[in-house]
Amino acid sequence: MHPRFPGCPAAHPSQTNYCQRVPLRRVVAVIGGGIAGATAACHIAPEHDVVLLEQEAELAFHTTSRSAAICLEHDGNNVWRGLNQSSRSFFETAHDELDAPLLEPLPVLNVHLEAARNEALADAAMGTQRTPAVRFVDTDELQLLCPPIDTAVVGCGVLEASAASIDVMAIHQLYVRRAMSHGAQVLRNARVTAIERHSAAAIDGEFPTSLTERGVHEKDLAPNRLR
Ligand SMILES: Cc1cc2nc3c(=O)[nH]c(=O)nc-3n(C[C@H](O)[C@H](O)[C@H](O)COP(=O)(O)OP(=O)(O)OC[C@H]3O[C@@H](n4cnc5c(N)ncnc54)[C@H](O)[C@@H]3O)c2cc1C
Repeated sequence: MHPRFPGCPAAHPSQTNYCQRVPLRRVVAVIGGGIAGATAACHIAPEHDVVLLEQEAELAFHTTSRSAAICLEHDGNNVWRGLNQSSRSFFETAHDELDAPLLEPLPVLNVHLEAARNEALADAAMGTQRTPAVRFVDTDELQLLCPPIDTAVVGCGVLEASAASIDVMAIHQLYVRRAMSHGAQVLRNARVTAIERHSAAAIDGEFPTSLTERGVHEKDLAPNRLR
């Protein structure tokens, strides 16, 4: 199989031009310049021509800049947990572009009503399977860890000792810079209002997608590529 194109046979050594017939690069429009869009642009840009489109005058204007900025491996659903756990080593890496760590220790204690003790025990057991830093905390220790807590109301908790605060804006900038270093264009004030397919401009049997936006036209997105 071709190493970069699943489903395509690998080129025979004698077929030196084989890869030239394979459309190696695509124009990829990434809509939204928050952490999700910046991450996607960063990972796609080395292989394709990326245009990152952001409706606001600034990137990360909405949810990303409002995050509580806590890196938790034991929260949310299984997909979220899996993503956070597999991202952890990247967050802990000393990246050349950054002059400070992305993570700072910030243990997190989730508290539960006494009536919800069984749920807390089950939650802690599941968390411990993922990371030993998650454990059940009973009433006495809860009072020690957080003296203001009224243990007549709150009976127990689940502690994630390895939780950390994360420098969200630093990681966002890291992704944007890496995308741009691979040639990605970042267009601000570029709200996408429609996505259209133009069959007349089919290339290799595939229909290029054009994005129509007030003030942003195909020619801005992908010069010479979508025609
Ligand atoms: C109060 C709060 C606290 C949070 N705390 C945490 C936390 O502690 N830890 C954690 O991991 N997560 C936390 N989250 C969740 C996390 O912040 C979000 O999951 C994440 O920021 C979402 O990023 P995003 O890129 O998907 O969205 P956004 O940051 O909202 O980015 C979407 C971007 O798309 C742009 N856009 C939308 N429509 C268009 C269009 N038509 N054309 C062009 N651009 C468009 C928007 O302007 C925006 O910039 C928190 C969220 C909130 C609200």
